Amino acid sequence: MTAADGLGFASRAIHAGQDPDPQTGAVIVPVYQTSTFAQTAVGEHRGWDYARSGNPTRDALEAALASLEEARHGFAFSSGLAAGDAVLRTCSPGDHVVMANDVYGGTYRQFAKVHQPWGLAFDPVDLSDLESVAAAWRPQTRLLWIETPTNPLMTVFDIAGLSELAHERGAVVVVDNTFATPYLQQPLQLGADVVVHSTTKYLGGHSDVVGGAALTNDDALAERIGFLQNAVGAVPGPWDTWLTLRGVKTLAVRMRAHCDNARAVVACLAESTAVRQVLYPGLPTHPGHEIAAKQMRDFGGMVSFRMADEDAALAACSRFRLFTLAESLGGVESLVEHPGRMTHMSVAGSPLEVPGDLIRLSVGIEDPTDLVADLLQALD
Ligand SMILES: *Cc1c(COP(=O)(O)O)cnc(C)c1O
Repeated sequence: MTAADGLGFASRAIHAGQDPDPQTGAVIVPVYQTSTFAQTAVGEHRGWDYARSGNPTRDALEAALASLEEARHGFAFSSGLAAGDAVLRTCSPGDHVVMANDVYGGTYRQFAKVHQPWGLAFDPVDLSDLESVAAAWRPQTRLLWIETPTNPLMTVFDIAGLSELAHERGAVVVVDNTFATPYLQQPLQLGADVVVHSTTKYLGGHSDVVGGAALTNDDALAERIGFLQNAVGAVPGPWDTWLTLRGVKTLAVRMRAHCDNARAVVACLAESTAVRQVLYPGLPTHPGHEIAAKQMRDFGGMVSFRMADEDAALAACSRFRLFTLAESLGGVESLVEHPGRMTHMSVAGSPLEVPGDLIRLSVGIEDPTDLVADLLQALD
């Protein structure tokens, strides 16, 4: 039992795993900048022996994130890709993975260039077409990798429906919940087995730290992921976990502001004659709108749109002033990027190649009137 048990989401973000320090009364979990811990006798210690295996600051972050995803087990990693890598290493050579055909470029690169050469087969599939998913299934299929909404095309997949399909066939369901965050969507409650995050994005929320996490209610998977966290060693340092934990405290208020501002930006884009198509699950015309409305609390702060052609997209990207031209997302400041030439360069020439006329916005929490004004001048 901790003080956070039974509290609402915003309260747990501030209190779960973050009780005042029993020794000093410090209200904020301290940065335990130490690599090792004194033992009272050989093999006798207070729960921490070496900081790769465990650190109290990291423990606090893991407890907070697990609480937000309503998971029993949480593991923090040095990056989102390291978290995904640990989850994929629970598979064995010869296993097969079905994955979404639109995922973060680095995730695809890790599948194709790291895990596949070591013997893990995979197929990118349109997960909105259950017949294609069933057709791609093999006797060796061990894991279904879902990302929703997807980066950068904002496709939405039905977590509950896909989890049922995968579980009937004996596979583990993993959801990359980076875009939605647990504030908007809780995949474990919808039937998924593991949630992975790039905490670099909304959970950290201030574009000042790289990190990742894996959360699960499955005890056997948790034991394996925990083993891999320590045995492979892609752990975050105490300062990084502390910064992430500080960001997490304001997740609820930030997400509400991100969603409201994204709505204002989408309304502006929808009226622009320079924009060919707006990709946002909050739009009733979005093919995943109904599912998104069912499985998400709101539609998030990420917005993609398509211009007439690549030249128009590149020109518009260079005209933004308040939106910063940069990779990454989920921080308080608004960012714009050209996925084809920036974040998703690694999928060029693959089945996941993204259109050159695409622009992706991470809508921040500045004043919406300022964001809309910048958008209008950039599209003009
Ligand atoms: C950024 C991102 C990742 C990778 O996370 P890192 O922290 O950069 O390693 C994975 N999935 C999604 C959806 C992302 O946006």
